[in-house]
Amino acid sequence: ATPMSVMVGVGKAAEYGALIRQGDALQTAGKLDLVILDKTGTITEGRPTVIRVHAEGQGEHQLIGLAAGLEQHSEHPLAEAIVSYAREQDIPPAKVSGFEALNGKGVRGEFEGQPLRLGNRRWLESQGLSVSRVSQAADEIIEQAGTPLFLALGSQVLGVIGVADAIKEDSAAAIERLHRSGIKVMMVTGDIDATARAIAAKTGIDDYRAEVLPEDKAQVVSEMRGQGYSVAMVGDGINDAPALAAADVGFAIGTGTDVAIESAAITLMRGSLHGVPDAIEISRATVKNIH
Ligand code: ADP
Ligand code: MG
Repeated sequence: ATPMSVMVGVGKAAEYGALIRQGDALQTAGKLDLVILDKTGTITEGRPTVIRVHAEGQGEHQLIGLAAGLEQHSEHPLAEAIVSYAREQDIPPAKVSGFEALNGKGVRGEFEGQPLRLGNRRWLESQGLSVSRVSQAADEIIEQAGTPLFLALGSQVLGVIGVADAIKEDSAAAIERLHRSGIKVMMVTGDIDATARAIAAKTGIDDYRAEVLPEDKAQVVSEMRGQGYSVAMVGDGINDAPALAAADVGFAIGTGTDVAIESAAITLMRGSLHGVPDAIEISRATVKNIH
């Protein structure tokens, strides 16, 4: 490639809001044949809201207060949904000590000397807690493409909170453009299978991997490269950074975290997935001009 044509391509991509931070990404982008998308904040808005509160015994007020007491220390989009909901309902967050976030699992701390946990079913069950009393409410949340989060104080499961994140209005159209360019589209998410399946069906995604722990996202990228694909990874979160770095081309959502942006070759300033087919089309045109 001549430096001149690359410069023109980089400039053209910037007009479309795709900031190319690593020069060779422009040429690599034209050869991509698999795009792997993170779910939360990438396909979806990343601003989830509470859609359902189901409390056992103690009542919703206490459930939300305890959940907000944990989540006020977390920066996860799910945490923001719960903290905002508590604020809207005028429920003060409970005083929680020893806060800890567990990637892909949930959050934990201590309340009045008892362990307090909020997170997904798999994690709580792995801690020896039974969520069966609230499983019907959880199933209803999943049917609405929501994520159920279970709250346990000590050995008691107090209830479940349903959080749902709207799909960006143009995600399906951008995925359709990728298909028309002959590119396969896959989703990786830490969320559960049923929620992932609902999102994939709504957006026309070919294939997905659910319940992928953050540290394993990069492994999915490597695995697909090993199968001969030229792989793009698109993500917004700290947990996507290793996968972005492992891809042939990493695309960071510009509204995402700095760590993701630092790990990716291309930043999508407009937050829309259309930036991916834009960059690929510009790359193909640039490379064609060179020969
Ligand atoms: P994604 O890949 O969709 O961005 P994450 O890997 O960040 O998702 O999280 C995966 C799952 O871990 C969530 O769906 C949720 O069940 C649980 N989880 C992660 N962080 C939190 C949190 N702050 N509060 C509650 N649950 C959480
Ligand atoms: Mg994300």
